[in-house]
Amino acid sequence: MKKHILIIGGGFSGMAAAIQLRKSGAEVDLVEIDPGWRSYGAGISLGGATLRAFRTLGILDAFLAQGNASDGVKLCLPHGPQVAELPTPRIAGADVPGGGAIMRPVLARILADATRASGTKVYLGNTFTSLQQDAEGVDVVFSDGQRRRYDLVIGADGLYSKLRETLFPQAPKPTYSGQAVWRAVLPRPPEIETATMWMGPRIKPGVNPVSKTEMYLFVTEPRPSNEHVDPSTFATQLRSLLDDFPAPTLQAIRSQIGDDSQIVFRPLEGLLMPRPWFSGRVVLIGDTVHATTPHLASGACIGIEDALVLAEELDRHTETEAGLAAFEARRWERCRMVVENSARLGEIEIANGDKEEHARIMRSSLMALADPI
Ligand SMILES: Cc1cc2nc3c(=O)[nH]c(=O)nc-3n(C[C@H](O)[C@H](O)[C@H](O)COP(=O)(O)OP(=O)(O)OC[C@H]3O[C@@H](n4cnc5c(N)ncnc54)[C@H](O)[C@@H]3O)c2cc1C
Repeated sequence: MKKHILIIGGGFSGMAAAIQLRKSGAEVDLVEIDPGWRSYGAGISLGGATLRAFRTLGILDAFLAQGNASDGVKLCLPHGPQVAELPTPRIAGADVPGGGAIMRPVLARILADATRASGTKVYLGNTFTSLQQDAEGVDVVFSDGQRRRYDLVIGADGLYSKLRETLFPQAPKPTYSGQAVWRAVLPRPPEIETATMWMGPRIKPGVNPVSKTEMYLFVTEPRPSNEHVDPSTFATQLRSLLDDFPAPTLQAIRSQIGDDSQIVFRPLEGLLMPRPWFSGRVVLIGDTVHATTPHLASGACIGIEDALVLAEELDRHTETEAGLAAFEARRWERCRMVVENSARLGEIEIANGDKEEHARIMRSSLMALADPI
């Protein structure tokens, strides 16, 4: 009999789960609280493992057409000279570069189109108000007053998950990392061909092309406390963070930041929920259980991989709970590695600490990410 599955949350993880579960013939409903199903306007960097996951999902060609793929990450000194290039192995296949970037709303649209095309029933501006499970299924009441019964519920409602709080009230809360990141979308100068970073002592600016004509700028900054920042000061603050980087390319980029630039400021928070990640027939995936700071550019990757592995394990096991246990066992170590290593990279940056340790963690994490999932 066909499984009837509910996904709560239509971010990258929830949409990937919908697409993959439909392939195995499940009936899938997805509820997303945002009536506009919006994604905010910043770029997102993606490693080879993410592109491999895109290939499995079936959205790699759309990504290659609408985003940008390139090999290697250039590391430069604050005054400009390149000192190293981090190799990015071609994990998705010899024909696909080892990394890339895309605008978040563009990736969200690619995934939303694939979700709808998969035959998933999408309910926007909707969420659960209560869940009650027994040995055979889960009864769900929705905010539009509807009630339905499911064989499985997947929670993909993100870092501030209401479902996590409902299911695991003792779960840890997101913690502030002591760093914030600024992002802006700017025209792409011809010399920016791949991800490029300038290694300041505590501030790390970088750029990554998101299309043939645009790139996004990201700047990580230590901030001891998580305070509100007045958006009217964004452009001035972002420009001043680049004052100590005389690299001509970066100064040219700096001069393009103005009051009308599209700038996103975000304090960085993390969360690693200890196992278990499921209770009975309700399972949590993505940022809901493992929200990482972006130091390895792999948060979206591990959320999408969760979806692929979950679909595979549910297919492989006749008992739902056995499938969920197998899913969790396969995912825990990889997700823990990404969250904890990213957090450590942030700590080293904040303290202007050991560059060798930073490089070592970066290399070993990127190698581990290339492993099969
Ligand atoms: C500053 C920053 C930079 C980052 N940069 C990168 C990067 O370069 N590369 C990378 O791979 N990752 C990056 N990440 C991480 C990446 O963005 C996340 O890991 C990824 O978006 C998680 O997707 P998700 O679907 O699990 O959760 P979310 O994106 O949080 O999606 C959750 C969805 O659930 C919906 N929702 C919330 N509550 C409810 C509810 N009660 N009912 C129904 N729906 C609900 C939300 O509206 C949303 O659509 C970055 C993160 C941050 C903070």
